[in-house]
Amino acid sequence: MDAISYQRAADIGSAIQAASQPGTVFIGGGTNLLDLMKGGVARPVRLVDITHIGGLDTITALPDGGLRIGALVRNSDAANHAWVRERYPLLSQAFLAGASAQLRNMATVGGNLMQRTRCYYFYDTAFPQCNKRKPGSGCAALEGNTRIHAILGANDQCIATNPSDMNVALAALDAVVRVSGRDGERTIPFAQFHRLPGDRPDLDTTLLPGELITSVDLPPPLFAAHSKYLKVRDRASYAFALVSVAAALQMDGNTVKSARIALGGVAHKPWRAKATEAALVGRTLDRSTLQNAAALAVQGAKPRRDNAFKVTLAQRAIVRAVEQAGGAA
Ligand SMILES: Cc1cc2nc3c(=O)[nH]c(=O)nc-3n(C[C@H](O)[C@H](O)[C@H](O)COP(=O)(O)OP(=O)(O)OC[C@H]3O[C@@H](n4cnc5c(N)ncnc54)[C@H](O)[C@@H]3O)c2cc1C
Repeated sequence: MDAISYQRAADIGSAIQAASQPGTVFIGGGTNLLDLMKGGVARPVRLVDITHIGGLDTITALPDGGLRIGALVRNSDAANHAWVRERYPLLSQAFLAGASAQLRNMATVGGNLMQRTRCYYFYDTAFPQCNKRKPGSGCAALEGNTRIHAILGANDQCIATNPSDMNVALAALDAVVRVSGRDGERTIPFAQFHRLPGDRPDLDTTLLPGELITSVDLPPPLFAAHSKYLKVRDRASYAFALVSVAAALQMDGNTVKSARIALGGVAHKPWRAKATEAALVGRTLDRSTLQNAAALAVQGAKPRRDNAFKVTLAQRAIVRAVEQAGGAA
């Protein structure tokens, strides 16, 4: 058994100070980290409990009309907050599609941003090959069961997917992640927060060692009247997405004025389907427009042995999500 020390941070400064020591990780709700520790996937020597830091567990209005969601806001509180439900129903739906009520009561927004892949071979240390767990060791998934794996943006280093529902909605909403570190504060546009595997599949995000996520900022709400989070999974609840779609539209009568489409379950990061978005703008939502636009989202897809179904599923899910978003006044 490994010895682990535990420290409770009273403020952002002391959390960052504590994290400067090697082997230190922050713990939020612990719903992902503790599983990883129990499985021997994560082996921290020091846990810094950030859940008692004041001021990071609130949702506040921003002067530009947007919303600031503190990193310690629990997923269920964010999902059920009146401003989130009214102004960003897409995000509320995504939160409620994730995990279970008990887990959402514990899970924090910062922890959800940082949750790790559900690739079977990452979690199971009986497989020595995992570039994400042990850089340079290989990828057992390539020759394994690839049902849940990536079809876009992957390579032979890593075919894992990002498992979060919240992240897909935040990608569509163009959120901004605010972080604090030893060099001060900085903001990271959501599209730059999560990474594709490249030659560093061990890194899921562009967060620097020791940096603390303090909040997620949402721009002013443009899509409250026309949005839909659609999650397709093997069970109706308590299962990760095979494919999910966050669709957000601005409509001018029956014509699409602007569109944001992000996919989950298909890549190492939430996947923005920019070509699909462009193909919808200025169009009415007839079936052939939707199908043509959806096809653009999976151009260049490289399915593996067991997940070719995701190429078709992603297109159908986009069509349905956009139809429902467009029809929801
Ligand atoms: C059975 C089960 C089913 C699930 N189903 C789903 C699902 O369907 N959809 C879905 O989206 N999720 C699902 N989840 C995952 C769940 O959403 C995550 O476990 C949760 O969001 C993580 O939040 P946390 O606060 O518990 O993070 P923790 O476990 O505390 O931390 C996770 C990681 O984030 C880091 N971290 C935490 N806070 C910060 C911060 N402020 N700054 C920097 N780093 C930080 C930690 O160091 C750690 O590396 C499921 C989990 C379980 C166990």
